[in-house]
Amino acid sequence: MKNDKIYDIAILGAGAAGLMAAIAARRTGARIAVLEKNEYAGRKLYATGNGRCNVLNRTAAAEDYRSGEEHAAAFAADVFAQCGPAQLQTIFESLGLDTVEEGEGRLYPRSLQAASVVRALERGAFGKIPDCGDSAELICGFEAKEARRDPDGSFCVTAADGRDIKARRLLLASGGKAGIQYGCDGRGLKIAESLGHRIVRPIPALTGFVCEETDVLEKLAGVRVRGTVGLYAQQTGGAPVLLSKDTGEIQFNKDSVSGICVMNVSGYYRRRGGEKFFLSLDVLPELDETALAEKLAQRKASLGDYFLDALLPEKLAAAVMELAEKEGQTPGSIARLLKTLSFTPVASKGWKDAHTTSGGIALDEIDPGTMGSKLVPGLYAAGEALDVDGPCGGYSLTWAFASGWIAGQNAARNR
Ligand SMILES: Cc1cc2nc3c(=O)[nH]c(=O)nc-3n(C[C@H](O)[C@H](O)[C@H](O)COP(=O)(O)OP(=O)(O)OC[C@H]3O[C@@H](n4cnc5c(N)ncnc54)[C@H](O)[C@@H]3O)c2cc1C
Repeated sequence: MKNDKIYDIAILGAGAAGLMAAIAARRTGARIAVLEKNEYAGRKLYATGNGRCNVLNRTAAAEDYRSGEEHAAAFAADVFAQCGPAQLQTIFESLGLDTVEEGEGRLYPRSLQAASVVRALERGAFGKIPDCGDSAELICGFEAKEARRDPDGSFCVTAADGRDIKARRLLLASGGKAGIQYGCDGRGLKIAESLGHRIVRPIPALTGFVCEETDVLEKLAGVRVRGTVGLYAQQTGGAPVLLSKDTGEIQFNKDSVSGICVMNVSGYYRRRGGEKFFLSLDVLPELDETALAEKLAQRKASLGDYFLDALLPEKLAAAVMELAEKEGQTPGSIARLLKTLSFTPVASKGWKDAHTTSGGIALDEIDPGTMGSKLVPGLYAAGEALDVDGPCGGYSLTWAFASGWIAGQNAARNR
């Protein structure tokens, strides 16, 4: 279907980055089309933070971000220098979204409802706001299949149903593949690739691990414990290399290990061939192994068989005692196990479970000052589509909003 209208900017994706880009761009008076395959904007946003949406992290800084190629911090520093968490908070306040802070800088809407965030973004992008230019046009049910750059420098985006949208600028805000049930299937990355961009292989991040030790996990299902997790890679015959470590709540399920700290290391599970990976859990991180062995010996002397009582959840204590059978269940062998409980990931929990994507559009081909492509004039990208990911705690959305704002501003400015 032909549509002769030419927009200044077509934004692909009405998620966090795309809506924020539309808000920034409309302030310049640009004519904007936001193309969304779902029947409404912000579908994934409604599911964030268990329906409460951890909308920003007040303390988010460049060093909190990584990439599949390990060099996101300098890129993120340029982005946050222009639009950091404080500026984003001000933008949200101007849209009527008050926030409340929980621990570690995590900001939630005062209503504790993700819907408030979506409504604020929709107001900013599509509502009538004085002195703010025309509102952006939201075109739902538009599943982009491909995009091309025409000889006149404009872009043409074609939907699965044959509709075409033409625009002078194209802004890719179509996410990665995480939360695939909410609409992201990596098609946007394929479009970026077809336009000439290199894609760092996307892998699920902020997710748990399905592990080999199902016999142990079945006994531990439902247990939650505070601890430290290290993700290690090992080449055949080589020493294990620590890829990432984090501390927090660890959750055991009948075939997998998850919890915030496990999710935070999952983006490093990037198989390059020939490597084995393992998770090493320390479920009593407050004591080193020697001190723990001494403590266990003292407790054993005074409490007998009950020496692990109250130190650990019952199911975990029982499983550890069983694992220590071969080594005589001495305080030393139990302390070693508690500090290095090992699980072997066979896979991450996958795209349905993942909260974000590690990998995406390679950063060396994007200008962090404008979020513009260094290869394709008029092309911009923002959010999870880029090879940038951060930990749990509002960091992903902070990134999506910050990069979306800059991309929208610059796509409009340079039209
Ligand atoms: C369950 C869950 C909970 C989360 N909770 C939090 C949280 O509390 N705090 C936090 O910071 N982060 C959270 N995240 C991560 C965060 O939601 C994402 O990182 C963020 O939404 C990415 O923003 P984005 O705009 O780049 O992509 P998205 O928000 O994924 O938006 C991309 C949009 O593009 C559309 N699209 C994709 N392909 C096409 C196509 N071919 N044609 C047309 N449209 C297309 C999609 O339908 C979608 O609407 C959570 C993620 C999940 C899955």
